Amino acid sequence: MDLRSLIRDIPDFPKEGVIFKDITLLLQNPDALKETTNELFKLLNGQKINKVVGMESRGFLFGPMLASKLNAGFVPIRKPGKLPSTTLSETYDLEYGTDTLEIHIDAIEKGDKVLIHDDVLATGGTANAACKLIERLGGEIVQCNFLIELTFLNGSSKMNDYSVQSLLKY
Ligand code: 5GP
Repeated sequence: MDLRSLIRDIPDFPKEGVIFKDITLLLQNPDALKETTNELFKLLNGQKINKVVGMESRGFLFGPMLASKLNAGFVPIRKPGKLPSTTLSETYDLEYGTDTLEIHIDAIEKGDKVLIHDDVLATGGTANAACKLIERLGGEIVQCNFLIELTFLNGSSKMNDYSVQSLLKY
């Protein structure tokens, strides 16, 4: 089915000048929900994964469903102060200022085969910081996959060390 037709552009969200890709129509369509999960799963081409790591908050939508299909666990990466146990954090640069992501230090074991997943790859800052957190905990990043890649923002150029796959490119 045509997944693209279920992704709409919202101008000036969350701030003026940004055209936000809204995936809620895709999420609320039962066939699209199933097909998206299946297609993200296929991007792995049978490679073995034992942890799927999803970034707050839209990485929490398909991440756990993918993990379930892969017989893997799911690990959340969150904004500061949200995870209750001991965390490791990584700060990265934004256009103006910085942002920080956190992960529980016991979420990844040395040698874990990790899939990083998020809904959108934009500038790549979020995904790159997530990769660093996994590597600092000794995990091995098998693939980073995304529902949508905004190619004009060149996020994949920040991800040269990793295998990056996206379902829909804009
Ligand atoms: P980046 O760090 O690559 O610039 O931004 C990626 C993060 O921002 C992802 O966690 C993603 O959910 C969010 N994001 C950025 N732009 C969009 C967008 O147009 N649509 C959606 N749904 N999320 C976006």
